Amino acid sequence: MYSSSRQSVGAFIFALGVLASSIAAAAPSNVRIIPANRARFLTGQKFDIRVEGRGSGPFFASIAIDGMPVEFTSGRQGTDETDGITSPGYGGFNLRGYANDDAGIHTISATFSDADGTVSSEASFEILDLSGAQPAAKNIIILLGDGMGVAHRTAARLVKFGATDGQPNGYLAMDRFPGTGLVTTHSLNSIVTDSAPGMACYSTGNHSNNGQEGVYPANMTNPFYQPRVEYMAEYLHRTRGASLGLVTSADVEDATPAANAVHTGNRNAGTGVCDQYLDESDSEGSSKYGTGLAVLMGGGRRWFLPAGQFGSSRAAATDYDSLPEDLVNAWHLPSSGKIDPQRDLIQDFIDRGFTYADSATTLSKIGSPDKLLGLFGYGNMNVAFDKLAKRRGAQPGRDTFVVDEYHAPDQPLLEEMTDVALQVLRKNSRGFVLMVEGAHIDKQSHLMDADRVIDETIEFDNAVAVAKQFADNAGNTLVVVLADHECSGFSLIGALTGGIDHLRKLAPDNKTLDPATQPERQRVIGTYDTAAFPRYNILDDGYPETFDIDGKILIGYGANGDRYEGWLMKPLPIVDSLLPDDIKAELRSVGYKDQPYQREESAFGYFIRGQAAGRDNAVHTASDIPVSAYSTGQEGQPNDWYKQFYGVQTNTDVFFKLMRAALGG
Ligand SMILES: [Zn+2]
Repeated sequence: MYSSSRQSVGAFIFALGVLASSIAAAAPSNVRIIPANRARFLTGQKFDIRVEGRGSGPFFASIAIDGMPVEFTSGRQGTDETDGITSPGYGGFNLRGYANDDAGIHTISATFSDADGTVSSEASFEILDLSGAQPAAKNIIILLGDGMGVAHRTAARLVKFGATDGQPNGYLAMDRFPGTGLVTTHSLNSIVTDSAPGMACYSTGNHSNNGQEGVYPANMTNPFYQPRVEYMAEYLHRTRGASLGLVTSADVEDATPAANAVHTGNRNAGTGVCDQYLDESDSEGSSKYGTGLAVLMGGGRRWFLPAGQFGSSRAAATDYDSLPEDLVNAWHLPSSGKIDPQRDLIQDFIDRGFTYADSATTLSKIGSPDKLLGLFGYGNMNVAFDKLAKRRGAQPGRDTFVVDEYHAPDQPLLEEMTDVALQVLRKNSRGFVLMVEGAHIDKQSHLMDADRVIDETIEFDNAVAVAKQFADNAGNTLVVVLADHECSGFSLIGALTGGIDHLRKLAPDNKTLDPATQPERQRVIGTYDTAAFPRYNILDDGYPETFDIDGKILIGYGANGDRYEGWLMKPLPIVDSLLPDDIKAELRSVGYKDQPYQREESAFGYFIRGQAAGRDNAVHTASDIPVSAYSTGQEGQPNDWYKQFYGVQTNTDVFFKLMRAALGG
């Protein structure tokens, strides 16, 4: 039986320190201590501390932890340049690679001075000791349905199984996980997060600003210099020798995979992000440091090809240069970062012991190498809807295949990637962390393409089933299904009335902004009783034969952008934003559109004015997301690590619950 405190790490973690500033006349402004007040860490988990402020130099600063003065590792007192990497107009002082083994609340006291005065600040942090004598989970598997809210799960369940007389006819694999609760999704600077801090909350236990992963916000000249916090994978690799696996249907540079392994304040710095995957996978001369990256699979070949080759996106502007000396020393990093757009990163992975797969066919024959790099597209991989079209030999509404036009004709499904990843990772007797992302649940929700969203959610759930099967076979494994945030305010309005052929015959209608005119297309939406129980024909591959059925489920978006909506399947996806420019240009030339509101030439659309400020896309929402957990102990027997996830919890709580299982606390 678990105690109530075990069920909610957050319950016994509370704020003690209050940021207190005493201000002298004409003092520096924006003085702050990093990490933010009330941050939480594991015993021994490393993080960087920084004191910075705005003003006119020369700058001075001091820092004490629990009243004991501590030396900064960088920051020259009494100069304008201080650490040499702080934004102009600011002074900055760093203490890199700090860690504390004493559980409890600690206080950081700092002073910051410029030519005009001094500001004193205080912030608290808490150290949690989650180790113990309980059995420890050897393997942690995080399945991250990007943007997946409750309604995405409901839609996938209803399409795949249907419902009769008020009862679902079946359940998704994730529905069957017993440890279900809700998770808040806020970032450090907003109620609405993006995927970078959304994932990093789970992998570090700390909040960051939007767009930032594995670092804290700071006024610095380079996003790769920002103060770091240790990832779960780094911690478990350093303390235990665990491996890391990252599997995604996105470009591997994308925020969700990177927020498990790469430290940067700019999620879009793709050249540097992908370089860091390899450069910091294992520090030279020691296997104790780095992420232990052993599997990296997804799209994103563009970041691995030397600049100038077809499909390459490598560029100096998105690369990272050599890192500050105190950062390198404190974190035991290789000092090999350099601006090298001509780098052949695939070859460098191979030289470091990775086997490379570039297609589903290669992957299916690869066995279980020690390390695996799989790049199956130039940018984001294609969605299940379009991958399945190629496998079935028919693209709805087209006589060419979308995957061919994306230059990625032979892509694996997410469960196929997950299965191979687990075969590789299980070879490490010290365990692993595996993150599997269903990326397009989010991306297609942004683009308000419901049929592609739902196929993608079914694909993601198939990967959940593979992970559960592994947990049953291998034992000692905790599997959690999460989302980083909800996307689009996805909602099931009801179902089509009047039949799909009636819908196909409706004329386009662009007069719908006149409130006096009800568009015909609105009258076909069955709500309440007239929605009834839609039934899709599911083929042997586990996906609907078509989404265009009589009684089709109709999806609306509470956080929508502008779009043309005809409720019918869309033959072409919107041009994926994470593609190399070469391929984007080709797609446009054969009729692909860049934004949902540009679909006006497609038949049967009617215009819907969105509510989000950026009209291009639907946006993330501040909603809580569901978490579902499953765990097995010795010999694959049921185990109750999953019970920690009952109730409502914050996103950073999830990290500590995962680590409690990993550390036997
Ligand atoms: Zn998103």
